[in-house]
Amino acid sequence: MKKEIKHIGVLGAGLVGALLSIYLRKRGYKVSLYEKRDDMRKSSADSGRSINLALSRRGIKALEDIGVIEEVEKIMLPMEGRMMHSQDGELTFQAYGKEGQYINSVSRGNLNKILLEKAEAAGVEIKFEHTCKSVDLEGTSVTFKTPDAEKTMQFDLLFGSDGAYSKMRQAMVKKDRFNYEQYYIPHGYKELSIPPNEDGDFAIAPNALHIWPRGQYMLIALPNLDKSFTCTLFFPFEGQPSFESLQTPQQVLNFFKNTFPDSLPHLKNIQEEYFENPTSSLVTVKCEPWVKNNCVLIGDAAHAIVPFYGQGMNAGFEDCYELNLLLNRHADDWEMTLDEYQELRKKDGDAIADLALHNFVEMRDLVADDKFLVQKKIEAK
Ligand code: FAD
Repeated sequence: MKKEIKHIGVLGAGLVGALLSIYLRKRGYKVSLYEKRDDMRKSSADSGRSINLALSRRGIKALEDIGVIEEVEKIMLPMEGRMMHSQDGELTFQAYGKEGQYINSVSRGNLNKILLEKAEAAGVEIKFEHTCKSVDLEGTSVTFKTPDAEKTMQFDLLFGSDGAYSKMRQAMVKKDRFNYEQYYIPHGYKELSIPPNEDGDFAIAPNALHIWPRGQYMLIALPNLDKSFTCTLFFPFEGQPSFESLQTPQQVLNFFKNTFPDSLPHLKNIQEEYFENPTSSLVTVKCEPWVKNNCVLIGDAAHAIVPFYGQGMNAGFEDCYELNLLLNRHADDWEMTLDEYQELRKKDGDAIADLALHNFVEMRDLVADDKFLVQKKIEAK
């Protein structure tokens, strides 16, 4: 480990990379943040991942710490519990905690934009349309493809916050004694939407995470600020029923009518959305070590997990929060900090990866079990 750290490179200006850059800049480092996409603050294209996310205490703690929580609060919609929709339309509410305890639906794009604004205002140099092609782990350098040319940049320290298919991690996989495991579940996901109702209001209860649990698969919905909901169908790729088996608009309509009947009147654009929106896969990644020479993995690059605990981003935010605490404790001694960082966070990353896989079974199946339906029953409208 090089001792004197002045210039830090951060690969990937997603949620974790943007937050990390703010933390590092606030500590006085020169920070350069590189993103393959163009500036989302200037374009309308979405990020290609989920449109909204559940933000919980773990993530909020970090947002408070760097002083952006007031802006983020403006885009947070509280979800006080799960609202289960049975096949015959009965609604059952299960609170997430005691009164006043809730998780929050936030727009991924808006949250990312707030963090990018804050990073820029703090003095982080942000370079868009810089696609990392390769990472030299010995030289702490990166080769980028830009619209004009290829260029190689060198840093004192480099973070890989470039997501589940990280280029930095790909470089590490080729090295001796790097352990790597990846696992795709047999289900994929597709996003659909429930627009506001005719009165311009939420079409279903806004203060809940809605779930239509159906054993081997499920539909969920999270509210958005514009009074729409983003729904996600978690569904097998193959078998009966599956993404493969629903081939025609009529098959899709029949399936939703029989399986999620009370959702169908609200899914106004299902025909187009089902066939036009992508079907994406869900991967779990476990690896170690997260630190090779002066290169460090963080966020999904270190621990991609399935979304069923709503904790991927939250865990990535907590990586940044804990890293900052360790830097405080060790007075910016990076060697001591990074040793402890991977020791501390790897265990937590593995734990949440396993919990998230287990929670898929709970969400799609067990929540509909009579034993779990002990709380307030709500009459179907
Ligand atoms: P990413 O968000 O993937 O960001 C990586 C960034 O790096 C991107 O901007 C990408 O463009 C950039 N990049 C990638 N490759 C390169 C390259 N070669 N060169 C330059 N830049 C590059 N988490 C929650 O906490 N709560 C939820 O409710 C939740 N719901 C989810 C629902 C779904 C369907 C999915 C798929 C995930 C969900 N997650 C949730 C997980 C969450 O999305 C991730 O954990 C989070 O986005 C990780 O942030 P990140 O910055 O590490 O990675």
